[in-house]
Amino acid sequence: MKWSDTLVPTLRDDPQEAEIPSHRLMLRSGMMRRLAGGLYSFLPVGLKALRKVEAIVREEMDRAGALEVLMPAMQPKELWETSGRYEVLGDSMFRVQDRANKGMVLGPTHEEVITTIASHEISSYRQLPKTFYQIQTKFRDEIRPRFGLMRAKEFIMKDAYSFDLDLDAADASYKAMYDAYCRIFKRCGLRTKIVEADTGAIGGKWSHEFMVLADTGEDGIVDCADCEYAANLEKAERTVVQGTVFPNADAEIETVDTPGVWACAEVTKLFECDPLRIIKTLLYSIDGKPHAILVSGDREVNEHKLMRLLGAKSVDLANDTTIQKVTGGARGYSGPVGLDIPVYADLELQGSRGMIAGANDADKHIVNVDLERDANITAYADLAMVRAGDTCPRCEGKLQEKRGIEVGHVFKLGTKYSDAFDATYLDDAGEKKVMVMGCYGIGVTRTLQAVVEQCYDDNGILWPISIAPYPVAVLALDPDDEVCAKACADMCGELNAAGIETLIDDRDDRPGVKFKDADLIGLPVRVVISRRSMKDNSIELKLRTSDDKQMIPLGDAVSEITKIVNNLFSEMASD
Ligand code: ATP
Ligand code: MG
Repeated sequence: MKWSDTLVPTLRDDPQEAEIPSHRLMLRSGMMRRLAGGLYSFLPVGLKALRKVEAIVREEMDRAGALEVLMPAMQPKELWETSGRYEVLGDSMFRVQDRANKGMVLGPTHEEVITTIASHEISSYRQLPKTFYQIQTKFRDEIRPRFGLMRAKEFIMKDAYSFDLDLDAADASYKAMYDAYCRIFKRCGLRTKIVEADTGAIGGKWSHEFMVLADTGEDGIVDCADCEYAANLEKAERTVVQGTVFPNADAEIETVDTPGVWACAEVTKLFECDPLRIIKTLLYSIDGKPHAILVSGDREVNEHKLMRLLGAKSVDLANDTTIQKVTGGARGYSGPVGLDIPVYADLELQGSRGMIAGANDADKHIVNVDLERDANITAYADLAMVRAGDTCPRCEGKLQEKRGIEVGHVFKLGTKYSDAFDATYLDDAGEKKVMVMGCYGIGVTRTLQAVVEQCYDDNGILWPISIAPYPVAVLALDPDDEVCAKACADMCGELNAAGIETLIDDRDDRPGVKFKDADLIGLPVRVVISRRSMKDNSIELKLRTSDDKQMIPLGDAVSEITKIVNNLFSEMASD
């Protein structure tokens, strides 16, 4: 393909809208353009890279035995009422009406549709197992669309759904998808970390996320320095030490004046104590009802864990009026003693004595608190955010915190949707059973940009050979020179015939511009043909990732380039 025949609108300067490297580079290299917040168009070269990611995903899904389908993006709202998610997903769903005022949603995901299909079309154990997948556009009205393709309002997802006879069979389907995901991300040139994840609004029992480690990632994750444990912070656990006994543990509660002192750091300073000795009491409104949640002084409450524990739909910090009404005291001075609302305490607090807490009275704390003795705790549970330095839940190792971009997510769903949509089958004894489901998503457009976030340098993108829009950039420095033009056309024609596409920079521009743009769009192999190189009847060859250049006789160019491209593919496979 000639540069002059396609559209590669590279930009010299960083677009203002872009905050992270991959977003900047996707725009600057002319791969895509923004239409409006969270909406992007792919231009010809960017689309080629996207199609390559899709092709890898499709190949690996087919290899894993999944069946490709294509479902409508627009779905009747009743389906979502049947599953109970019409309310749960709230404003994150785009809702529309047809001319007859029938309510529709633009699908953020497709569990409801695929389960309807399975319920109608599968009736016998002989038809199971089945895994279906599609590569299709999804719509989500994200609160904060940002970072280009990373968090868009409209994006392309590969979603897959498995239907099985029972839990064991569903485990095998899950494993098959998990393994396919490992192959997909490796083939895209991504280094991913697989973490245990929260199942959120989708429901289900168990799930893993595939994370691309990057400082700009929106997800916090932890992993153990000594073992394989890794989890999303939303889900991460730790080993806790319980039953710490502080001085005066057996004494009665006493009230102490602490004017203006309420933040943990100030309380520890005033009492010259460890944050572990302080009970932090947070008032929450959970599904509209007040609850108190207790964690150690310098810990944060993990609202995802709270939601899961209570099966809650909404978890919000209580406002001042509620705090005043429920505790009788001011914000910052809440404590667990004397409350008559549900009180949930983090496991770390269980059995600890000699503690310090708010007195439910402005400017006052209480000391010598023994939760078992002095408070009415509804339940102890794992409710705290884990942080770096905590002890691994699986071994003695220390946890470390990292940032990640979630590119894929696999869930064991169980029967939540098959129950709701009556997706049942008759087993070999003629008995009616409910199908066990799994669901599996890859953000295809997010994956493409995540590759750039992991593969770039100061000068531009470093596409892995597998998804590079073109494997080879040919810089025709003297496009008007007949000898050069013929050599270039012959070589590119032969490469094309060998299945190696080239992007030929035939612009009437200075060499400096072409070299800069070649680095920016980041094709793996660079070939230079110029009057000077043709004097020796040769071309110059260079990899995007190396500074080494070599001159190759024109007659060997095609075989040499083919060899290099093949080597790049095999290096990726063996990494
Ligand atoms: P996130 O936590 O990032 O919002 P999610 O957990 O809601 O994502 P899933 O429902 O698991 O996402 O969707 C499957 C995949 O779709 C994700 O792993 C991610 O790669 C991609 N994805 C989700 N939301 C977006 C979005 N707004 N823009 C681009 N890709 C997305
Ligand atoms: Mg997810």
